[in-house]
Amino acid sequence: MLVYLYLQLIHVLVVPKDKILFNKIWKQQIQKGVDMAILQFATQALKNLFLPPVTTSYPASEIQYPEGSRGHVEIDIDNCISCGMCVRSCPSNALAVDRANATWSIDRFDCVACGFCVDKCPKKCLKMVVGYQTPEFEKSVATYKKSEEQLKKEAEAKAAAAAKAAEIAKQKAEAAAKAKAEE
Ligand code: SF4
Ligand code: SF4
Repeated sequence: MLVYLYLQLIHVLVVPKDKILFNKIWKQQIQKGVDMAILQFATQALKNLFLPPVTTSYPASEIQYPEGSRGHVEIDIDNCISCGMCVRSCPSNALAVDRANATWSIDRFDCVACGFCVDKCPKKCLKMVVGYQTPEFEKSVATYKKSEEQLKKEAEAKAAAAAKAAEIAKQKAEAAAKAKAEE
């Protein structure tokens, strides 16, 4: 439509009357195209009157995320072993792991939802969850810390492993001493 009007304007302003470029057939073809477009538009407008709206009245109704939407990264922190594989795989440096404090942090403003960290995690404790984060006024880093219960479990397991290793070392030393005494 705009192209047609533009050509008409040039035609009126520039083209001398004795040298008409847009002959009758040209005009008819353009008019035909415009008529078709109007017809298509009118048909679609009429159809839309009987179709449900394509928009959602959020937040009154539940939001429907489109298929293939990546969402955001979530962590099952108690399963994390602080290996740092996710941190090394993140292309936007959005992640940080603090092994000493048993925390895992993500800057959601830097995250591009590529999912690399999810693929790399050896413990499968990361996943992409559909849905977006609540908007915030300031940039912030979300930090997740292991539960006290999990920390206690890990400390007990560590102590048990250390005790077992000490017992094995003791048995080896005793066996070596016995062998030496028998020589
Ligand atoms: S989804 Fe991609 S950008 Fe976001 S934290 Fe994981 S690796 Fe980094
Ligand atoms: S890759 Fe998985 S287990 Fe390793 S630090 Fe990241 S979240 Fe934790």
